[in-house]
Amino acid sequence: MIAIYARQSVERENSVSIETQIDYCKAAIKPDEKQAGIKIYKDHGASGGNTNRTGFKEMIKDIKNGCISKVITYKLDRISRSLNDFTVILQVFKEHGVEFVSSQEAFDTSSVYGDLILKMLIVFAEFERTSIINRVKDAYSKRSDIGLYMGGRRQYGFNLKDDFINGIQTKILVPDKNELSQIIYIFNYYSAQNTSLRSLAENLNLNTITPLNGTVWSSSKLSAIIKNPVYVKADINVYRYYESMGVKIVNSPSLFNGTYGARLYGRTTHNSSLSDWSDMKLVLCRHKGVINSETWLKCQLKLDKNRRFGSSVSNKSSYISGSIICSLCGSLMTTVKSPKSDGSFRRYFICPQKSHKKTCEGCICTIYADDLENFIDKCIYEKLLQIKSEYEKNSALNKTYINRIKSRLKDIQLQQDKLADIILNGSINNDLLSSLNRKANALSLEKNNILNTLDNFKTKKNAESGSFLPCQKWFEAGLSQKKAIFQLLVKKVIIFKDGSCEIIWNI
Ligand SMILES: [Zn+2]
Repeated sequence: MIAIYARQSVERENSVSIETQIDYCKAAIKPDEKQAGIKIYKDHGASGGNTNRTGFKEMIKDIKNGCISKVITYKLDRISRSLNDFTVILQVFKEHGVEFVSSQEAFDTSSVYGDLILKMLIVFAEFERTSIINRVKDAYSKRSDIGLYMGGRRQYGFNLKDDFINGIQTKILVPDKNELSQIIYIFNYYSAQNTSLRSLAENLNLNTITPLNGTVWSSSKLSAIIKNPVYVKADINVYRYYESMGVKIVNSPSLFNGTYGARLYGRTTHNSSLSDWSDMKLVLCRHKGVINSETWLKCQLKLDKNRRFGSSVSNKSSYISGSIICSLCGSLMTTVKSPKSDGSFRRYFICPQKSHKKTCEGCICTIYADDLENFIDKCIYEKLLQIKSEYEKNSALNKTYINRIKSRLKDIQLQQDKLADIILNGSINNDLLSSLNRKANALSLEKNNILNTLDNFKTKKNAESGSFLPCQKWFEAGLSQKKAIFQLLVKKVIIFKDGSCEIIWNI
């Protein structure tokens, strides 16, 4: 059985509703998991500061009884806000073979990078950095994230039909056979060698096939169709394509199984020299795609290649873009492509106030994106090592302290035994007896305190067991994982006039 756990916080207003959280969790369930059954556990108005929550306790009971194979939650902090609690809970999951998935942090405990990101998130959970602004955004973007129709014109090849999803009225795309056969023709034609958008348009117009809202086909109309992921049978390669463009992908990679079409939401910040896809979101739809991913991707590459020679639109996002700040004017620096002599391109960061409005001097040298990325790569690795060593140092200090109080515990036990002997065997007067009793009480109080302290350390030790952060994995991580870790660790990177930079850390 799959467990969905939702908790509404008491800590903050504007927090995401239980229903929204459940919608997100449901969207993270893989199709083949649905028959296993789903059980939903809820805690209204409960704090994440402790685990004394009705729904939560019920879920742990079911886990211990072996009924649950996977726990899905909206965000990690729904489970717990405390590092100690969290790691103890994860231990319980592990012991009972339960996988753990967070719908918003895009990882699960069964994947390699999931482990790295998870361990880091646990560290940051203690710092309580979650902003209210993010939460409001969550609620706003919900409709698109669960694949609901967001309005807009009808797409060539599909008609709109009223439908319900999770009780919300929406629309579903229904295929139009005639139009879809044109779509297939368009993709097959354009993916072939030595064809162009112009020759495709001429061909279609000769055959008196008319597009929507217009009488003739044009290159721009065709390019819009070819770029649209609504037609593709979205699989893992399509996922990777959008991932490499810096698009945020709502569904997990495992759902990209080559069956369904997808939609792209959001706006590109776009002008003549740059385009940033990092505000775009891709979400899987519920209608079936018609173009296989190989053909579709072939067409994207062809479009991208032709576009590159037309205008210099950047087609690859860097994991650091969106966090690089010009020290002179405070603007967010953007990436621009510059051609190299061998025909390839190199990206560099520039202050937009310098490149467009000429109101900022900017820095005196070129900040190449790959140089800056390499530098930040190394800094992040060192930061991870530093976090790791701080944890290890702490646990070494704790060990010395534990040994000291453990030997004190032995002392107390010896003294208690001695006192018991005196009281039982000696003939002693009342004055001495009451003084001995006071002494015995003081000893047992101290003993209890020590036992409590040892208990606390035991929980902490679980939290720190094993090598705490697999730092080396940082270099192997993909773009979206790096971006997630980077955004957790780094507040911003400031570029100074002389081209030097300073990283402002979150931790
Ligand atoms: Zn500037």
